[in-house]
Amino acid sequence: MTILKTLAAAALIGSSALAGTTAAQAQDYPTRQITMIVPFAAGGPTDVVARLVGEQMSKTLGQPIIIENVVGAGGTTGATRASRATNDGYTIIMGHMGTHAASLALYPKLAYDPRTDFEPIALINGAPIVILGKKDLPPKDLKEFVDYVKKNESSVNQAHAGVGAVSYITCGLLNGVIGINPVGVPFQGTGPAMNALVGGQVDYMCDQITNVVGQVKAGTIKAYAVATPERNASLPDVPTTTEAGLPGYQTTAWNALFAPKGTPPAILTKLNAAAAKALDDEKVIARMKDLGNDIPKADQRTPAVLGNLVKEEVDKWKKFLKPVG
Ligand code: ASP
Repeated sequence: MTILKTLAAAALIGSSALAGTTAAQAQDYPTRQITMIVPFAAGGPTDVVARLVGEQMSKTLGQPIIIENVVGAGGTTGATRASRATNDGYTIIMGHMGTHAASLALYPKLAYDPRTDFEPIALINGAPIVILGKKDLPPKDLKEFVDYVKKNESSVNQAHAGVGAVSYITCGLLNGVIGINPVGVPFQGTGPAMNALVGGQVDYMCDQITNVVGQVKAGTIKAYAVATPERNASLPDVPTTTEAGLPGYQTTAWNALFAPKGTPPAILTKLNAAAAKALDDEKVIARMKDLGNDIPKADQRTPAVLGNLVKEEVDKWKKFLKPVG
């Protein structure tokens, strides 16, 4: 046998062995712990939802799911890491409206394309945005808030979780509606940003309701309005933006699970089934409701629905946002 033929035969054996291993791996999956990347700080809204759903998924899959908080650049550091991870189902990410849609409009050199570098697993929740102020912020309601931030544009500051975070893009929309451009104060997640709001180091913020309910009920911060057409049952005293005089401001964030591109379909099917089952778990439903979240209905939990949502949201945010830097 010539060297070339030998090499070709070896390559053939090698590739069929590899293909066989991959299929077997997909069938046995998972045989060890899975890492779920959360691209923001621990304790924030994406982290809370990831831990809640991850715990139930791990029961179904029979292996631990470890949360790894990979922070930075408005969530794009963690998403970049996830896009480059081995596509064997052992690394997945809880991404969101920022990392997997809006960021593409904000970062001209984003290292990944959420539409082509990931496999959608399942939409996990909808989280209405709430407009918040520190406890001592003078305005009593949203109308006063709008006047106040306009008058004090040069001195007020607004917390967010980095360029591309939900808090960044949704408060960017709010500032646009009001017509102001305040100083932004970046954090590695709205967990730490919330601590600063409670501590009075920052003046206002727009955050996913998940992170807000406990503090509003405890009276440690002010909630001016929830940016949805209906009030939220978890915060029944907080008016909608329409009721409070800013009907043009409506926004709800979403979190969703993704795997790196090329993750085998059999593994994606198992991950999707585990995620969908977690959303039917009584404990998960109760906690999600307490925290004001919407759970997608069964027919909204498919990878195809999430794939389409990402495409639509990329297009939507491109209309609203201009590249930064
Ligand atoms: N979702 C982020 C977090 O969990 C914050 C954000 O996107 O604003 O902290």
